[in-house]
Amino acid sequence: MTTHAPQTPRSVTLPTSLDEAVAALAAMPAAVPVAGGTDLMAAVNKGQLRPAGLVGLGRISEIRGWRYLDGHALLGAGLTHARMGRPDFAALIPGLAAAARAAGPPQIRNAGTLGGNIASIAPTGDTLPVLAALEADLIIAGPEGSRREIPVAHLLAGRDMLGPAELIGYVRVPLLHAPQIFLKATGRTGPGRATASVAVVLDPARRGVRCAVGAIAPMPLRPLEAERWIASLIDWDGRRGLTTEALTAFGDYVAAACIPDPEPGLPGDEQPVHPPAVLHLRRTVAALARRALGRALS
Ligand SMILES: Cc1cc2nc3c(=O)[nH]c(=O)nc-3n(C[C@H](O)[C@H](O)[C@H](O)COP(=O)(O)OP(=O)(O)OC[C@H]3O[C@@H](n4cnc5c(N)ncnc54)[C@H](O)[C@@H]3O)c2cc1C
Repeated sequence: MTTHAPQTPRSVTLPTSLDEAVAALAAMPAAVPVAGGTDLMAAVNKGQLRPAGLVGLGRISEIRGWRYLDGHALLGAGLTHARMGRPDFAALIPGLAAAARAAGPPQIRNAGTLGGNIASIAPTGDTLPVLAALEADLIIAGPEGSRREIPVAHLLAGRDMLGPAELIGYVRVPLLHAPQIFLKATGRTGPGRATASVAVVLDPARRGVRCAVGAIAPMPLRPLEAERWIASLIDWDGRRGLTTEALTAFGDYVAAACIPDPEPGLPGDEQPVHPPAVLHLRRTVAALARRALGRALS
């Protein structure tokens, strides 16, 4: 077996603005951006990645905070999970704060960033289902000060990729002023990657329930029909509560939408069933969705 010793990148640039970072990437196309380094340096250390150069994003103060903009929050891509997990952020976007608090052990949360979590596009990225349910947009910085905005779902689905000298600058998230819940199953005690996760977001102004299921597919899945059905049962002007039966039916609906029944075989054949591991995953998704909606409405 051949093993590769990790190689030190030949150049490290530490820009202090987004545009400088983009310019550094344009000047050296073989360089890669690095924020907290929790994903990237793990790949370098394993010998999976040998960047010729690094463009560090850690000194770009403009992307380390957030600000308000037209009923939205403009979140800098350099926000760490630890920062997003704090109470002031949780009061603003509770679902994202809950996901950030669940993202790995403390040393990872102190270094790992929102932009890195998105750009890695890992199925287990904890912020991704929340951003999908919030229908967040990405503001992408490109050469010569250009900015373009795309739905986060387009990047996650591979419909729109980052160009060679482009960076995620900001994430635009609507401020809904309503409960948002993120729940995650890990299959182990303590911090761990999600085996399944569910984000539920209430949008009272549009009388909507938005839900996204993470970790069970390459990108978060939105069970749109289940969302519309359950939203039609909620008394938006009243107590907003639902019966236990309705919550259970919502969980089952979400799980069946995301992990459909296997295709029937030829006429006369028995209806095929999922293997036990898939059935277990489906039950997990159903339980997470039921609990998440129940908590959001309680
Ligand atoms: C032990 C361990 C446990 C973990 N547990 C979890 C977990 O439970 N949940 C979870 O979600 N994640 C987990 N992670 C993954 C990781 O910590 C997160 O994905 C983190 O948010 C990545 O952010 P970063 O700033 O460290 O990214 P980096 O490692 O710096 O970068 C990751 C990728 O994103 C690119 N990138 C970074 N910033 C930008 C930007 N602004 N624009 C464009 N591209 C960019 C980099 O080039 C690289 O390709 C874990 C990682 C480790 C090592």
